[in-house]
Amino acid sequence: MADTRDAIVIGAGIIGASTARELAARGMNVLSIDRLPAASYGSTANSCAIVRPYYSTVHGSAIAYESHFYWSDWENYCGVLDERGMARYHNVGCMIMKTRQNNFLESILKVMDEIGCPYQELTPEEVCQRMPSVSTACFGEPRRTDDPEFGESLGREIVGAAYFPRGGYISDPQLAGHNVQRAAEKFGASFRFNATVAAIRRDNGRVKGVTLDNGEEIDAPVVVNVAGPHSSKVNEMAGLAGTMRITTRALRHEVAHVPAPDDYDSGVSHVFSDSEIGTYCRPETGNHILIGSEDPACDEREWVDPDDYLQEFTGMWTTLVMRQAQRFPGLKIPGSAARGAVDLYDVTEDWGPIYDKSDLGGFYLAIGTSGNQFKNAPIAGEMMATLIAACEDGQDHDVDPVSFHLPHIDRDVDLSFFSRNREINQNSSFSVLG
Ligand SMILES: Cc1cc2nc3c(=O)[nH]c(=O)nc-3n(C[C@H](O)[C@H](O)[C@H](O)COP(=O)(O)OP(=O)(O)OC[C@H]3O[C@@H](n4cnc5c(N)ncnc54)[C@H](O)[C@@H]3O)c2cc1C
Repeated sequence: MADTRDAIVIGAGIIGASTARELAARGMNVLSIDRLPAASYGSTANSCAIVRPYYSTVHGSAIAYESHFYWSDWENYCGVLDERGMARYHNVGCMIMKTRQNNFLESILKVMDEIGCPYQELTPEEVCQRMPSVSTACFGEPRRTDDPEFGESLGREIVGAAYFPRGGYISDPQLAGHNVQRAAEKFGASFRFNATVAAIRRDNGRVKGVTLDNGEEIDAPVVVNVAGPHSSKVNEMAGLAGTMRITTRALRHEVAHVPAPDDYDSGVSHVFSDSEIGTYCRPETGNHILIGSEDPACDEREWVDPDDYLQEFTGMWTTLVMRQAQRFPGLKIPGSAARGAVDLYDVTEDWGPIYDKSDLGGFYLAIGTSGNQFKNAPIAGEMMATLIAACEDGQDHDVDPVSFHLPHIDRDVDLSFFSRNREINQNSSFSVLG
């Protein structure tokens, strides 16, 4: 006879674990299943785990800003002390350059005003006072390193930047995911690792349960797809291919981990985002920095099969370091082996997530997190649990959208914003910035 639960969560990354926590906190008997050996061993483990409030939309920014307060009070949120230790939020603030690509931050700062998020506008001199390692030369646009104009400054300075004190990064994203697993277990959720969901069973237009690759069946009236870059494969198992306007696919990304320049202090330096050179970076322990790509138009996007992609670094790793060196002239390209991460984003057409029901009764989606939803994981879990409770109670979210309250900033979010059938957000950066 099949094991029977109230809810099954497919995927124990940080958003899957948060969803399990919130469902269990509402009294459900929850089983979280992951094909990997431990919580958050998938894309969560390689996340840069940056917490920043700016996105292209009011709702997206409001949730990201709200998330700062969760990370600031992490032990209380978890409600449990993990035997492996607790992840740490380094609230070092974020600096974002004013560039032609981001319309000199005009619309982003309007959104910040609307949600009440503090920021300070900086002149080029103030940028250097805050981060002495920065060159304020203007490079115009991100280029490939084989472009003859790569690294050529336009002979003038950048316009300035904005500084957001409420932001930073999480030191160890995998540990943060493990913290949430322990928090979910405290509410009675169980976790099963090294177990792959191979089929999703349906009955009378509703989900019935899952079948593992060893043939074992587990039944539940609620199943949540939080499979990260495998989300489209899991949707296919549920017979949902072609039923959604917004879809997901896996995008390969590289992150470079290099020693910081001598004049960079990783204890106080800010998260730094610069669409003019096409990179973002953040401090990493041991006076290192992590450098990621902002997906500039000159780079080809690498859409891949999440079960079959190149896990070694390519020339992109060196490109990232060289691009960042335009802004940090003291940055050296290490002669030793490349360090960092190669991993996958789960990307939608407008680079926003899908937090929604589906066309299959009882089957829910927390997918398409597009390289930018780590920070929102605790809130994503709460939004999913609120949505699931309302839908299982008979509310038709497609017609009568569920609303969610952000307590710290006292705002309501209409969850249809994250619908699988929304119009594509044309204000999106169409990049990891969302
Ligand atoms: C390189 C990189 C940098 C990033 N930087 C940032 C950042 O700075 N800030 C930010 O906010 N976000 C960032 N992100 C995004 C963030 O990390 C993700 O949005 C978040 O971690 C997704 O969590 P998740 O739980 O949805 O998915 P995942 O962590 O991908 O977990 C999905 C899980 O599902 C499991 N699974 C899949 N299929 C099955 C199956 N059939 N059966 C059982 N288990 C299955 C997988 O094993 C995996 O563990 C970054 C992502 C990457 C890759």
